[in-house]
Amino acid sequence: MNPAALILTCLVLAHGQHTDAFANPRSPLFGHGQCVCPPSSRENMPSICSYTSPSTPASSTSLPRASSSSSTPASPAPRKGFLGLLDKVNPLKFREFGVGNELKDGIAAFYDESTGIWEEVWGDHLHHGYYYTGKEKDHQKAQLDMIEESLRFSGIGVAEESEIKRVVDVGCGIGGSSRYLARKFGAQVRGITLSPFQCRRAQALTHKSGLEDSAKFEVADALAMPFSEKSFDLVWSMESGEHMPDKRRFVKELVRVAAPGGRVIIVTWCHRNLKPEERLTRFERGLLKLINSIYFLPPWVSMDAYVALAQEEGLTEIKTADWTRQVKPFWPAVLRSCLNLKSIKVLLTSSTVRKGALAILYMMLGYSTGLIRFGVITGRKPK
Ligand code: SAH
Repeated sequence: MNPAALILTCLVLAHGQHTDAFANPRSPLFGHGQCVCPPSSRENMPSICSYTSPSTPASSTSLPRASSSSSTPASPAPRKGFLGLLDKVNPLKFREFGVGNELKDGIAAFYDESTGIWEEVWGDHLHHGYYYTGKEKDHQKAQLDMIEESLRFSGIGVAEESEIKRVVDVGCGIGGSSRYLARKFGAQVRGITLSPFQCRRAQALTHKSGLEDSAKFEVADALAMPFSEKSFDLVWSMESGEHMPDKRRFVKELVRVAAPGGRVIIVTWCHRNLKPEERLTRFERGLLKLINSIYFLPPWVSMDAYVALAQEEGLTEIKTADWTRQVKPFWPAVLRSCLNLKSIKVLLTSSTVRKGALAILYMMLGYSTGLIRFGVITGRKPK
């Protein structure tokens, strides 16, 4: 085995060994864990499925429990022996984020610090590209294709475009999607992000492109959105769901602000679907914990879990797709983009960005082992 792979594997295994706060009944995070078992009826779900909303909601025992606690977990006791040594030398200090402000502040600080470099290299979209052949070289075009494919998948064709007049971009980054959707539909768009830097940058870019009357931005929490119910024809969440510590509340909020007949589109990182009673392996848990501690993510859920939540909230025309194959060229391209001179300069000065770059390898490992799935979940609020 090559030495780099050996070190990576040791670190991942060491993290997998940690007491799992999400499986520990004494932990405030109990029930928020990755052990989210899908309803058995969808065990052999094809990669693209459609469901109509069931009359009875899916069992809540198969889902992450709604949070009532805002506390953060106590740090695990220091470990002895070889694993303790690994902890000491590990450059990636392991963190498990709770459901409270520590996570939110971490997300805000992470994007405040890293958005500039990302924008410099990739432009105004902070999300994966959609690759039809895997050979495309224009990554920014692939990012726009991701938006178009997500809209198409949700059932918004040319005929439906005139229905979309009010859009909310939940976790808007620097407003790439917001401006795209404002232009495409001639819609009024509201974008929210946790990062004040992103919010200011979104406003500046929107002003520059003459869209300031159509797209507005604010710092706000997706789990308690500052919008009244039934406000939007399209509720858009492009790669923000993975940051949400309470997925049930997240989906509930998305559905609450959707207008009757409005569409909800969630494009997000998921872990693989699990059989009933199945748990992620120790290796998989370790790998996700490493990624979480760098990208400020709470525990992951599967696409099946999202489908169950969408059903629970009464969405109709629920569809999911696994686009892991379609996004495959993305992370190697990100890795290559880190090797240009400007990026190396930032890599040398920012530890957040340095860790982020290292996490690219973990993401690639997650995709290649089938653990990480790139999911799209769409649905419609009944009229
Ligand atoms: N959708 C954007 C950005 C994706 S990056 C794009 O595609 O370009 C993830 C975004 O989610 C960031 O803007 C981050 O601030 C936002 N986010 C994460 N947790 C959030 C929360 N609880 N409330 C609002 N925004 C959140």
